[in-house]
Amino acid sequence: MRPFQFARVEDVKAAIHAHTGGGRADDVSTSNSPNQYLAGGTTLLDLMKLDVMRPARVIDINALQQTNSGKIEFSSKGLRLGAMVRMAQAADHPDVRKNFPVIGQALQLAASAQIRNMASLGGNVLQRTRCSYFRDTSYSNCNKRVPGSGCAALDGFNRSHAVLGVSDQCIASYPGDFAQALLALDARVEINGPKGAREIPFAGLHRPPGNTPHLETTLASAELITAFSVPPAPWARRSLFLKIRDRESYEFALASAAVALDLDGGTVKQVRIALGGVAALPWRAKEAEAQLAGKQLDEQTIEAAATATFAQAQAREHNVFKVELGKRTLVRALHQAAALEI
Ligand SMILES: Cc1cc2nc3c(=O)[nH]c(=O)nc-3n(C[C@H](O)[C@H](O)[C@H](O)COP(=O)(O)OP(=O)(O)OC[C@H]3O[C@@H](n4cnc5c(N)ncnc54)[C@H](O)[C@@H]3O)c2cc1C
Ligand code: SF4
Repeated sequence: MRPFQFARVEDVKAAIHAHTGGGRADDVSTSNSPNQYLAGGTTLLDLMKLDVMRPARVIDINALQQTNSGKIEFSSKGLRLGAMVRMAQAADHPDVRKNFPVIGQALQLAASAQIRNMASLGGNVLQRTRCSYFRDTSYSNCNKRVPGSGCAALDGFNRSHAVLGVSDQCIASYPGDFAQALLALDARVEINGPKGAREIPFAGLHRPPGNTPHLETTLASAELITAFSVPPAPWARRSLFLKIRDRESYEFALASAAVALDLDGGTVKQVRIALGGVAALPWRAKEAEAQLAGKQLDEQTIEAAATATFAQAQAREHNVFKVELGKRTLVRALHQAAALEI
């Protein structure tokens, strides 16, 4: 690991000040920024040890657990999850489990118990891809790690890679689970930074790789996620997270589906679907939602929705199985959600 400066801060203002060094921040945040916030450290320290991330300054924000960023609040206005809440805390919270089951399940199925105890919600949505060429610096060609260097995965071993939202510059899959639950529930992200506080839809947080795979989010430099808010919605209670992976003990998703359904008898009033494991960023399945709205939820409509979702899939040599797996995951998740007794 390379030497770095370390600062511990007590509040949001001090965190932002320590990040900018009191000076002007860049407009665009790259994950390769020389300043990095440290939450649970389960992504950051991992990548520093691999020499993939090389921050000159690490700013420990764990004291923010004592502020609103460390709280879970539930009311008639919905759910607010502080960004410093640990994954395990949110996964086990009774209001989360009862009213937003897809969130509890996505977190419960993520990583291992030890990691869930350590890792924060803010850090979770900002975790970086598990593409092995990205994580191994002996490969020189990775556009995400070294912009303009090429992509070793295109013609390499790409079994874990994405089939939706990819570009010819990067086919890495977004690895997290929690993000899909937030996306399906129309969550919003509270952000604070050098230019003040702002709030965006969660759907606006992650960028598709396009020609700039090293730019993974729309956060500006030094911006800090302080919380996520989830509005109350008629589909929130009938929601679930289905994750398909190589082993059950702990593993990243090969395919996952976060589904939230509002049913009137057997007819879909509203449905929200987000997919993981198969896409370059948390993927809202708008085509499937449009196909299902107002329809009877049966074999035929569900199959048609799954087919529409993957119509634009771009598979490579080793990940072609993800197209069928992604469809089946979505089909099963919709059937299971319809069968829930709430
Ligand atoms: C073996 C293993 C298995 C795993 N399996 C899964 C899995 O199945 N599913 C899954 O979802 N995840 C999985 N993970 C990933 C894990 O959940 C993430 O590493 C973790 O959630 C990151 O949170 P953290 O608090 O440790 O982040 P950190 O490592 O502290 O930070 C990650 C990044 O986010 C930035 N950051 C952190 N907090 C903020 C904030 N509030 N505002 C702005 N920037 C911030 C940091 O600067 C850093 O760049 C796994 C990890 C490991 C090591
Ligand atoms: S898929 Fe993306 S992260 Fe992986 S090697 Fe290619 S550019 Fe790098």
